[in-house]
Amino acid sequence: MTVNRRDSSTVKAGDGTVTVSGWVQDIRNLGGISFVILRDRFGTLQITLPKKKVDPELFATLTTLPRESVVSVTGEVKESNQTELGVEIIPSSFVLESEAGTPLPLGVVDKVNAEMDTRLNHRFMDLRKPEVRAVFELKSLMMRLITEAMEEKGFVQVCTPKIGASGAEGGATLFKVDYFGKPAYLAQSPQLYKQMLMSTGLDRVFEMAPAFRAENSNTNRHVTEFISFDGEMSWIGSMADVMSMMEEIMDHVIRGLKEKGAHWLSVMGKEISVPVRPYPVLTYSECLAMVNGAGLPLKDGDDLGTEGEKIVGDIMSQKGYDMYFIAEYPSEAKPFYIMEKDGTEYCMSFDLDYKGQEISSGGQREHRYDRLVERMEKLGLDPEDFGFYLDAFRYGMPPHGGWGIGIERVLVKMLDLPNVREAILFPRDPSRLSP
Ligand code: ATP
Repeated sequence: MTVNRRDSSTVKAGDGTVTVSGWVQDIRNLGGISFVILRDRFGTLQITLPKKKVDPELFATLTTLPRESVVSVTGEVKESNQTELGVEIIPSSFVLESEAGTPLPLGVVDKVNAEMDTRLNHRFMDLRKPEVRAVFELKSLMMRLITEAMEEKGFVQVCTPKIGASGAEGGATLFKVDYFGKPAYLAQSPQLYKQMLMSTGLDRVFEMAPAFRAENSNTNRHVTEFISFDGEMSWIGSMADVMSMMEEIMDHVIRGLKEKGAHWLSVMGKEISVPVRPYPVLTYSECLAMVNGAGLPLKDGDDLGTEGEKIVGDIMSQKGYDMYFIAEYPSEAKPFYIMEKDGTEYCMSFDLDYKGQEISSGGQREHRYDRLVERMEKLGLDPEDFGFYLDAFRYGMPPHGGWGIGIERVLVKMLDLPNVREAILFPRDPSRLSP
């Protein structure tokens, strides 16, 4: 006897008697015969109940269960040309593991799409929909592929603190918490720590962890908690070394998702294309010219913004490029830790954009203590506030650079999702702290 409790897709003719478990997705009663559609993580399976052939009590209870109840059904596997799997199960017994209440807060097989708020309010139910859940199978695969690529490149996985006394990206977007009577902040990024690690000899590090941003903006690409995939590497000659490392990693990840994620992509009815390499490198000034050419009156120094990024994305897409770097932003627009380009108003920073949206920021860092302090002062920061960070630069720091990628933003662009919240199990935004 084969016992298979959790993967309906592996049940095949010739298995004999099996036990399958899952949620009762649907029940169809056609008089002399009834069908129960059982759903698990991997698909659905048909339980067929010919009234004359199954025990009357079993028939009566199994075919009247509330939808979404959880059952384990034992029965004989029979070939069937009426079902997708080519098999059906004729039940001989079943266990009701948990009966579902009625009415359901949200339909699982409803054709009509519920509002996003309603879906997020009942996220556990929303996630029962295979196409909604598939995003998280792909997200998990993505994180595995990232780890694989980073280990192959000799990066050490690290965990930096998520509560600290200061932030790296500016005070306005810090979440303040009460730390035993003292003010503390949730980490906006692991920036300061991953750079400090460069002074230790751990010369390539990466982290995938939550980053918190107190951004009171209700857009489809901002949330207050996201997963940041950060990398930092020493001994670079220029920021081009960081960009080519990112390109290799992104290529490995997207190819891997296309190949190993094929099943979940088909559940979502999606296909992904692998961005053409080498990823073009545009300068900020070139992008500004493109944006101005399209009629958006931005000046040198302005943020390209959502609209500007989109214009550049459209132009690049016409040229066949989904992924490209935008490099050498104005120094004033970028954080203190970015190295300036000597003799210019620009700096060694870059963004990686995917289909007209920023998915990552990176750059070469200023590793020279005096220049770093100078840059902080120029940007109106007090070096004393960064004492613990600056110490790591005073006693020998290699040249280094790195990046931070919002992994949900990558998923959104890759899967063409309408909102970053679709790629987060329980999203946090200014108006959502629960569930
Ligand atoms: P944006 O200008 O789009 O708000 P940012 O310049 O604040 O982004 P960085 O601080 O450079 O972003 O963060 C690096 C990456 O982290 C971004 O490219 C993005 O992928 C991700 N990210 C940043 N803020 C958010 C957010 N609020 N929600 C989701 N992802 C984010």
